[in-house]
Order: sequence, then C-alpha cells, then structure tokens
Amino acid sequence: SGFDPELEIAPKEYAMVLPMGHRPDDRVMADLYRRLAAAVGQPAAQQPDWADRRLLDQVVAQLRSAPPIAAVEETDRLRTLLAEVAGGTRFLLQGGDCAETFASNTEQYAFAMADTLKEMREAVFRGAASPVVTVGRMAGQYAKPRSKPVDDSGLPAYRGDMVNSATPDPALRRPDPARLRRAYEQSAITIGRLRKYAAVGEGSEGESDNDIFTSHEALVLDYERALTRLDHSDPQRPRLISTSAHLLWVGERTRQPDGAHIGFASLIANPIGLKIGPNAKPADVLGYVRRLNPYDLPGKLTVICRMGSGMVRSTLPAIVDEVESAGRQVVWACDPMHGNTFVSTNGYKTRHFDDILDEVRGFFEVHAAQGSHPGGLHVEMTGEDVAECIGGLADIRERDFPHGYLTACDPRLNAQQATELAVYAADLLAD
Ligand code: PEP
Ligand code: MN
Repeated sequence: SGFDPELEIAPKEYAMVLPMGHRPDDRVMADLYRRLAAAVGQPAAQQPDWADRRLLDQVVAQLRSAPPIAAVEETDRLRTLLAEVAGGTRFLLQGGDCAETFASNTEQYAFAMADTLKEMREAVFRGAASPVVTVGRMAGQYAKPRSKPVDDSGLPAYRGDMVNSATPDPALRRPDPARLRRAYEQSAITIGRLRKYAAVGEGSEGESDNDIFTSHEALVLDYERALTRLDHSDPQRPRLISTSAHLLWVGERTRQPDGAHIGFASLIANPIGLKIGPNAKPADVLGYVRRLNPYDLPGKLTVICRMGSGMVRSTLPAIVDEVESAGRQVVWACDPMHGNTFVSTNGYKTRHFDDILDEVRGFFEVHAAQGSHPGGLHVEMTGEDVAECIGGLADIRERDFPHGYLTACDPRLNAQQATELAVYAADLLAD
C-alpha cells in the first residue's frame, strides 16, 4: 500500500537525516512500519492456517501492547557479547528444547535446563579458558516447521504449542490463535525464572555470569510482527526491534531469499541466526550475510551450520572461505543435531551421540584449516534424564526409548550427554 522501495532510508542514514536531539518524525516511523508490512507481506512458508481470523485479530491486538519478553538493553548487550564471539575471544553455547511445551514449563524444568547450560559453560571455561555467552532455546521456542503438512496418522501435523496441540485429535490439531497469547504468557513466565536463576545462582567460575539470553525460531509471523516494537530511545536512530526474544533465527525451511522470514529478519535490530544445511551454496550464504548484516556489525549475525557428520568436512570449507574472504564478520556456530537424524529400528526419531561428536570435530577441523573462529554450539538438549539420543557415557540404547523418550519434537541430548559434548568441544577449542 504505497510502499516504494526507492524511498527506503537505511537505518544508518537516519543520523544524517535528522538533526541532533531531534525526535524522529512520523514519516520516518511510518516508513519503518511500511517496510515491516511489506516484508511480512512477502510469501511466507510454514504459516498456520488459522481457523478463526477474528480471534486472531483480537490476540494480535493484545500482543501489540504486551510488555517485552526480551528487554531492548539486554538484546543490545547480547550483541556486544556475540561481537566478542565473532572476534574469537568468547564461545557461544545455545541450547534447549526442540519444542518447548506448556505442560513442561515448570520452574524445576527451567532450572534443570539452566543448571545444565551452566555445567556446559563451566566445562568450556575449565577446558579452554574461554568465557561463554549462554543463549537458551527458551521462553518462546513454541513453533515448529514441519516437512509434511500431515503426520503418519493423516492428521494435520503438530506445529508447536503456539499453534496447535500434539494430542492426536482433529479438533485439537486445528491452529488456534488463542495459543499465541498462551505462548506469550508462558514465555513471560520462563524469562522471569531465568532472571531469578541469574540472581540467585551461585557465583560462577571465570568471567561468565549466570545470565541466559533467550532465542527461538522466528517462524509464526503473526506472533513475531505483533511483538516487534519501534525503539526510538536514540532519536537519531529509530529502529525496529523484536521483544519476543533476544536472538531470533531463521530456519532451514523458511530462508527463501525473497520470503517473509528473511525480509523480517533483515529489518529488526536483534542479533539474528541463520540455519544452513548441506545444500546451501557459498555464494548464497554470502548473499544472506550481506542482506542480514549490511553494515557488517560484529555479533549481528550467527550462521548456524547443520550439515551432518558425513557432509560437514566437504560442504563447510567453501562456505566459510566465501564469507571470510569477503572480510565479513559472522559468528560461526555448529548445530550437530539436525543433520544427523534417523529413525531407530523401533520407530523413534533419534540421533547418535557419536555422529554429533563427529560433526563438532569436523566443524572445528574446518575452522582450524581456514583460520577462522569455531564460535559456538547450537544444540537440542534438556536438563532431564531422558533417553532420546543414542550413546554417550551412559550408553543410551534404543531399548531405553519406550520409557525415556519424552520430546515433543526432535530428540534432545540429556543433561549428561550435553555436558559430555561441552567437555569434548572444550578440548577441541583448547587445541
Ligand atoms: C530446529 O532447530 O528445531 C529446526 C527445525 O532446525 P532447522 O531449521 O535447522 O531444520
Ligand atoms: Mn529440532
């Protein structure tokens, strides 16, 4: 509606447009909102087909004035910490459930996750003397992209508690806009617990503190747009910022270059993650880097590589080379989970811990050869004693799945496997 890309003003140029101390005029703000509307108006993959549009409008209106889950100052602080990761002096640990659920959202659950992330952080500090920035897949990881629109029983697929219910009942699988509000409320509860954990946690080793930043996949655009705010605390540089999480990432299935998710991610000031799989072409990755971080701000963009243990050594070098040769500053993170999924003989989606370790090793090898910093890990994990991934010192096996497999979506490392992985990565980082 009247949006003219020719009239776009890049955020950096506001400083030149507006005199010192001047409040941005309505035209500038309207321009940002127009760009947001244009971005989310692009074709968007993996969106729920909401049954009740009237209720959707009501819920979105409520979310538009809801208090932030992620405070703007915290989000900016995360970017400065990620800048240290990009510069090679800090390590990123990002982890949590594949899909958070309303039912498991208790204080005990959140604290067990936080304790495990802390164990991992301390393992990295002990093993590699590296400070860590810790980011949870927490307080908002309630929406899932699916490879098929229906599940094995022919029902609409479960798309995360933000959208529908995992219960195999046709009525409960219908996307329900009231769940957007519930996801927001549950996220608000979780971030309260994370703040409590950071305040009451024991003094920690090294420079790191107990802060856990939040992140999730920016998937359901009705939700993400409603929680995007105009921040004009610096009147010379008004900007759009998401308050739904500190860091948002774009998933492997929704990173269409002309799609809504990439457009949305390119407009917000938050640190952004981009998942890339083995089919990503080096030139395309550099294109994303330019698009998502046009001013090459360190810490702005984390490229989360999920190649699979068999592909990481062959696919990643050219990608890293393309981006590093262009002189761009990114955080390189390794997701050793999503490229290593298979179905067990007894029918569970699983991953082998040895494959996970091997992908991490391959990731470190590639960066050692390239002279770039292996910046961090992105893992699906829980603080509970589950049996979802095979192997590790506790020797989890398929026969443990019938009683120990609890995930709502993808298989997670249990607390012990997660810590073992951190010890393993710390050794590689120390070398
Ligand atoms: C995920 O992180 O749960 C996920 C769906 O990952 P990807 O987009 O890399 O497949
Ligand atoms: Mn997953």
